Amino acid sequence: MLFPSTIAGSLPKPSWLAEPNKLWPQWRLQGDDLIQGKLDATLLAVKLQEDAGIDIVGDGEMSRQHFVHGFLEFVDGIDFAHKVEMGIRADRYKAMVPVVRGNLMLKGRVHREEARHARAHTKRQLKITLPGPMTISDTIADAHYGDKVKMAMAFADLLNKEARALQADGVDVIQFDEPAFNVFMDEVPGWGIEALHRAIDGLACLTAVHICYGYGIKANIDWKNALGSEWMQYEKIFPALAKSRIGQVSLECINSRVPLKLLSLLDGKDVLIGVIDVATDAVETPERVAQVIGEVMKFVPKQRIVACTNCGMAPMRRDIAEAKLIALGAGAKLAREKYA
Ligand code: ZN
Repeated sequence: MLFPSTIAGSLPKPSWLAEPNKLWPQWRLQGDDLIQGKLDATLLAVKLQEDAGIDIVGDGEMSRQHFVHGFLEFVDGIDFAHKVEMGIRADRYKAMVPVVRGNLMLKGRVHREEARHARAHTKRQLKITLPGPMTISDTIADAHYGDKVKMAMAFADLLNKEARALQADGVDVIQFDEPAFNVFMDEVPGWGIEALHRAIDGLACLTAVHICYGYGIKANIDWKNALGSEWMQYEKIFPALAKSRIGQVSLECINSRVPLKLLSLLDGKDVLIGVIDVATDAVETPERVAQVIGEVMKFVPKQRIVACTNCGMAPMRRDIAEAKLIALGAGAKLAREKYA
């Protein structure tokens, strides 16, 4: 099928589960209620995607507070009690981050419950996302390994363990989120890709990497405004991604200043093109979605195009995110009719 649709990862959480409109919300349930609430919200996320005509559905990331820390919570060797301030994404903004103080080990399974719950309730292809090793290493302080690359490889091994288990749970696509890839461009062709390869080692399911210019938070908007009219950062990393063993690359397209011609550098990969802008509440029309797909077809073979959101929708209003899901499904369908 041409132009299957999917989402980058997160959807807004229901307000009975967590504080709305926040990137880092507090849970509103506790204990067993929280465990059950996460599963109920997962089911709701899957149903909303199915009804919107999304072909490859996700868990909406209902069970994690944040896309990086949802994983770190399950890792031993990290001190969350004594956070330190660190410049994130090459000092674009400061954040209080936990500190690695010992050998990193998984405490157990990370996303088993939600993955199995989603798997049990949908016949569609299922995607689960994990943070990428480079992005994790840029979101945590190191007081143990003494070397960022060594620490990233240790995280890659843990990610691989969870990814293999997710595959066994029946997950069809495992995606690694690497927004740090367009910050440390020079390091991507070297250890960035190597760490990803370690994370996908032995996987037979589809693998994907999501890269992007970040959520619509102020620090990111200011940074993007400083990048000029054409964003060429990806020019440095696409050839390395094209040569990698990763199957799919997800990135923003609609309302982006990334020149679409750069997409031709991803030769041989499925490209998850963002046709839904997560930085604006204006809901796209199906016609606009189909138009973006048409523009991308000049640079990516149509059999390799997957319609997607630019990034996660976690901080958005629920009604808007739901309307955007419907536009995504309808836009992909319209493009199928137009460009078959
Ligand atoms: Zn993103």
